[in-house]
Amino acid sequence: MHSLRDLLQEAQQSGKAIGHFNISDLVLLKAVFGAARELNVPVLVGLSEGEREFVGARPIAAFLRSLREEFDYPIFLNADHTHSLAKALEAAKAGFDSIVFDMSALPFDQNVQQTKQAVEALKAINPAMVVEGEIGDIGSGSEIHDQAPDLSKGLSTPEQAQQFVESTGVDVLAPAVGNMHGMLRSMVRGETKKRLDIERIAGIKQAARTFLTLHGGSGTDDEDLRKAIAAGINIVHINTELRVAWRHGLEQGLAKHPDEVVPYKILPSAVDAVKQVVSSRLRLCNGERHFAQGV
Ligand SMILES: [Zn+2]
Repeated sequence: MHSLRDLLQEAQQSGKAIGHFNISDLVLLKAVFGAARELNVPVLVGLSEGEREFVGARPIAAFLRSLREEFDYPIFLNADHTHSLAKALEAAKAGFDSIVFDMSALPFDQNVQQTKQAVEALKAINPAMVVEGEIGDIGSGSEIHDQAPDLSKGLSTPEQAQQFVESTGVDVLAPAVGNMHGMLRSMVRGETKKRLDIERIAGIKQAARTFLTLHGGSGTDDEDLRKAIAAGINIVHINTELRVAWRHGLEQGLAKHPDEVVPYKILPSAVDAVKQVVSSRLRLCNGERHFAQGV
């Protein structure tokens, strides 16, 4: 079985990205795993602090390990947006494969200092741990927003990226390159798309020389996403699109069976709705031509 690090290296060499999808229940996990298996591509499952609080860090780690072993499948577990060393250590001890240590709300120097400490502490627990650091401002909350926040001042520069990676020793960097957490209502309706600063991504890649993650991928223009991957993005995070599909699918399941109380008869509509979104994003991350030719 390949490690997450090996798969990131392979993705980088073949110009693909690993899809990262947030889950907080079995519907989402079934949809993500089902879509990945159909396409036979590696996949990352992520849980933020709030999502871990709801599901439990140890139970989900045990569940993922069991899936990985039973199906001999490259599915990995990421502790998304972790805002304290205590929570990061808890996830590492539970058996998460990677940790997003997010101190991006702090001034740059403090972010560097605290991330460096976290990298050392996490690698002491598990030397194979993939640790990601965050710089810049991409907003918070994978939710529906009424208004677009002004994130223009929080864009990352190649100089910052290089300094951050060299000073902290992170394996993966998440920069701010036009991406944003959550979606605007117009994006949910499909009327507008997020646009990415591709030149900035290429500049950051050249300076930082490390794996890069794109957070807040929901609602991003497809062509921008393809160009971002070609410019050096190795992991693409999708959350809000899944949450929107989860809600719609659940509503459809309930409407279709007005008198039903059996969860496993109502919930497949939600699994199917989420799975469609995951499948289309995974195809994009892994190069659609690859699948079109059935290779
Ligand atoms: Zn994120």
